[in-house]
Amino acid sequence: MNFHSMWAELLPVGRSSASGGYRRYAWTGADADCRAWFQEQAEARGLTHETDRNGNQWAWLGDPAAGNAVVTGSHLDSVPDGGAFDGPLGVVSAFAALDELRGRGARFTRPLGIVNFGDEEGARFGLACVGSRLTSGALTVEQAHRLTDGDGITLPRAMESAGFDPDTLGPDPERLARIGAFVELHVEQGRALDLSGDRIGIASAIWPHGRWRFDFRGEANHAGTTRLADRHDPMLPYAETVLAARREAELAGAVATFGKVGVEPNGVNAIPSLVRGWLDSRAADQASLDTVVTGIEKAAREYAAAHGVDLDVVRESFTPVVDFDHALRDELARILGTETELRVPVLGTGAGHDAGILSDRVPTAMLFVRNPTGVSHSPAEYAAEDDCVAGVNALADVLEGLACT
Ligand SMILES: [Zn+2]
Repeated sequence: MNFHSMWAELLPVGRSSASGGYRRYAWTGADADCRAWFQEQAEARGLTHETDRNGNQWAWLGDPAAGNAVVTGSHLDSVPDGGAFDGPLGVVSAFAALDELRGRGARFTRPLGIVNFGDEEGARFGLACVGSRLTSGALTVEQAHRLTDGDGITLPRAMESAGFDPDTLGPDPERLARIGAFVELHVEQGRALDLSGDRIGIASAIWPHGRWRFDFRGEANHAGTTRLADRHDPMLPYAETVLAARREAELAGAVATFGKVGVEPNGVNAIPSLVRGWLDSRAADQASLDTVVTGIEKAAREYAAAHGVDLDVVRESFTPVVDFDHALRDELARILGTETELRVPVLGTGAGHDAGILSDRVPTAMLFVRNPTGVSHSPAEYAAEDDCVAGVNALADVLEGLACT
């Protein structure tokens, strides 16, 4: 089965007819369909298939117990109304690259694994990369047990109702110790390759990123009878802070977004008592990120004080910079630079990935495939089929260089 037909087969799974976007959430029916597809692909190629103790799926050529395995793959789940490419492109390309290598008559000297990491996007339980975090130990079993979806269903109950035993959850150092290299192919979630005119890129690093909650507390009052001069309206410093975030990010060459906001009492004719905004900010390095967030917080405190509003800022999560393994990255650049005509740029990304979670346990690298609009986490996410096929060939070259004679 070639790239095109595999892609076509997976395309309708979990797609909303209303939005055209994907709703492949962890441990739902759509997730089960994706998992069944993965298992079929593994079995059709004579690979051994297993689901590990944390719900990640593996397909093996050769015996992983031999160690020093080369693993590729990504994830099949999606954000709410996500695109077709984020995740599935890496999994479909992995099977297609194996087919390509078999067509070339390549002989494998290392075990080859193809992986579908569970619950990468965190759409259902609010935490990204649950499968890889559990495996690496970055997420404890106790923390995993507390994860709850919007309907109050805990992660263990959701797993159970999908036919998976949640009692097996936990770190899996033995499994990670068998992996000598992990290469994740992913659609680019920005326009760097489009701007440079390249089909394929190699990741250098994942930007440090975090989430901060800004609570502006003022005084609820009547929107009709309260004089402007008498108000303590938290919406005003919040609005000014949103603009400050844009300004600070522009100055530092970073990104900053207030993408989620809660208002109390949330009435049309009421001055709010509380405006709670969540800031997501990311930058190429820690110093730039610190500058951006400190600048936004300082501005927010000044605006709040000017309006007689209290402000609390809480850092809710933070992920430091992930610098991918330099030796593996250079090896990829060598393979793709000498054995193909590709000129392969090395670029950083502001998006998180399973590869980033594994990178402190396993030598890890990423390949990006051009995304002409840069749009991601949206039904408009897109990569041209020619570029996807170039990605498959680049991945095949990399796997051949790493795992074959
Ligand atoms: Zn992804």
